[in-house]
Amino acid sequence: MTNKQARNMSEIGQTCRRCKNEEAVLISRKEPFCGACFVHFIRGKQRKSMMSDDFKVKYGAKEKEITKVLLSLSCGSSSLVLLDSVVSMLKEQAIQHRSRQGFELVVAIIDTPSQQTLKPKEFIQKFKESVETSNLSVKFKIFEMNSMNISKDEIQTLKIDTAFQLDVLPSEIEGDSMTLTELLDQFSSKSTKQDFASAITRKLCFGMAKSLDCGFVLLGHSMTRLAVEVLSLTVRGRGSEIGDALHDGEVSSESGLRVIYPLRDVLLSEIEQYIRVQNLTHLVPLESPEYPKRLLRNSSIDEMIWDYFKDVGTNYAEVVSTVVKIGDKLTSVEVGNPCKICGELVADDPSHWLRKITVNEPFCDETVSVQSPDSSRSKPSSDEVHQTICYACIVNMVIEPADQAQWPRKTSFESDVLEEYIIDDDD
Ligand SMILES: [Zn+2]
Ligand SMILES: [Zn+2]
Repeated sequence: MTNKQARNMSEIGQTCRRCKNEEAVLISRKEPFCGACFVHFIRGKQRKSMMSDDFKVKYGAKEKEITKVLLSLSCGSSSLVLLDSVVSMLKEQAIQHRSRQGFELVVAIIDTPSQQTLKPKEFIQKFKESVETSNLSVKFKIFEMNSMNISKDEIQTLKIDTAFQLDVLPSEIEGDSMTLTELLDQFSSKSTKQDFASAITRKLCFGMAKSLDCGFVLLGHSMTRLAVEVLSLTVRGRGSEIGDALHDGEVSSESGLRVIYPLRDVLLSEIEQYIRVQNLTHLVPLESPEYPKRLLRNSSIDEMIWDYFKDVGTNYAEVVSTVVKIGDKLTSVEVGNPCKICGELVADDPSHWLRKITVNEPFCDETVSVQSPDSSRSKPSSDEVHQTICYACIVNMVIEPADQAQWPRKTSFESDVLEEYIIDDDD
């Protein structure tokens, strides 16, 4: 809803249905709300997902027993709403329990060289000016993506052969090290770049949580964003990851880290309304309805799906929630080898299937003959020679002009390595 619509509505004098007292300033889910009741409604959704004892004030608890929670801040609108809401929860606890709080909050920003208009330091400073945090235990940490140099001996060349199998060869980089941007710049397609960037930032986020000793990670995805994720993962050939990307719960059994999406029931339009009501628009400029549409040919898969859901979400919220509900029913792969590039578990070797569908021979009816004419080529590879790679990563590599890329070994994203690149923002 635009400001003009909001004005018109208060002019006609609808009353907020919750408090039955104040004038309504917005309508959400067909209900008129005053500003205070709307903020309470959205915060209620966040509180509901953080109701467990882990987040409650525990009297006499030793410092070690206090839950440490990492909130991943992208400096976008949803994570800002999440931060504002979680800080208000801590404030309420401090007021009710004589300055005690149920958990320690670490706000982590992964500074990528693109997107946001405000740089993380500026964002944090402006946030602190708008929302009081000084008497609370809230720490801000920044991980500057490009400060991390991956040394030559940590890098290997990954090459896809003609049978869609992955070979690992020694590093072919020119200098002594590579930055994460240089790593992503090897790929020319915007979609491929974004696909790998999201895999890297997810890993960095969990790596940061571990190195900062946090047991929980809060992600600010709105319902709209989760719906985008479901479709985008499907289109990118990462359907098997949908379960993992959507559920609240353990990241993996060995990590002990738990993820929560406290805004999973909040629509993008509601995120924007919250920011307006709370006067936080100087932190994230919201797109006006007149904002020019992106040109299709310049868009990545994710951007196109975003644009679609932004249009749909305003009038057909049920489409968004249905997509998320269906995605939430999917379970993820639990056994398999991790993909050498993105780290996701691979249950079946996708190269077999890819070879099958790309063979230029006439179709052989399998009910008549189980033996494919090309069966000699599709026999399983031995693990000593070929390494595991998932379907999406094969496709990423194959559609690029080069069928090989420099890529770090797994250890580069592990917590002890990340630790030295995490900076504190305490002035
Ligand atoms: Zn009200
Ligand atoms: Zn992969």
